[in-house]
Amino acid sequence: MLKTLSEVLAQAEQGGYAVIAPDFPTLYIARILMETAEAVQAPLILSYSTSFKPIRDLRSYAHFVRVVRDEAESYSVPIVFHLDHATNLEDIAEAVDLGFTSVMIDASIEPYAVNLERTLKTVEIAHAAGVSVEAELGHVSSDTDYITTDQFNGFMTDPQEAFRFVQDTDIDALAVAIGTVHGPYKGDPKLDYARLETINQIVSVPLVLHGSSGLSDQHLSRCIHFGIRKINIYTEIIRAILGESLVELTRQTSNPVPVSLAQAKAVQKKLGEYLSYSGSINKGSENIK
Ligand SMILES: [Zn+2]
Repeated sequence: MLKTLSEVLAQAEQGGYAVIAPDFPTLYIARILMETAEAVQAPLILSYSTSFKPIRDLRSYAHFVRVVRDEAESYSVPIVFHLDHATNLEDIAEAVDLGFTSVMIDASIEPYAVNLERTLKTVEIAHAAGVSVEAELGHVSSDTDYITTDQFNGFMTDPQEAFRFVQDTDIDALAVAIGTVHGPYKGDPKLDYARLETINQIVSVPLVLHGSSGLSDQHLSRCIHFGIRKINIYTEIIRAILGESLVELTRQTSNPVPVSLAQAKAVQKKLGEYLSYSGSINKGSENIK
């Protein structure tokens, strides 16, 4: 069933677990993700990035959103249909209009005042339609080289600023920068748990971890312990899909079906791992009021 981000994360907060938020590039992958969550009765945050728009499963974006919504409604577990990393208000307004149940505004590379203004506007547009809002303060980079530089520290979320930002914007979830990066890690990830603990103590909304692909289950459970309620993954899922596809492609000369089935198996296995780390298995069968 379709739910908003704030509904699903409120349950996660109560239960002390996190909900996995995988990005999906195509409808086929979306369905496998939902089936996998349904099989273990876990809630899911199905995340879509506008960067996937050039892959057109269907003729129009509106039709695509309707199909995803219909599909999500057909499962018994709570499913959030979330727009990931929108940087502008046009994408936000379009997503709210078409029927996403949650949106992320990411103005995290902008100065504080611009981030605040764009987030406020997003909340105004989304909340009027009953759609949840995630925003980011500090910046989760896509450049792993930053990890070894002093500049990286400048991107970390400042706890006091986070407190103010959440109070002033009325967002439903906050993405924090505590040392994770998007994409594959070079070397061991170093996370600032003291910072996360402080943010969690003073910020009133559930916290979101971007760049979770490649973190060990120990890292993830520590993050959950310190208040992370939404875990974003993409790189690991895509790596699994591409890896299994390559193996199958070397065997096939004329039949594409085993290649697609191998992709599905890869998604099931990888998402299954993250669902078990998150503590969300069987949490999707509880009733959400
Ligand atoms: Zn992200």
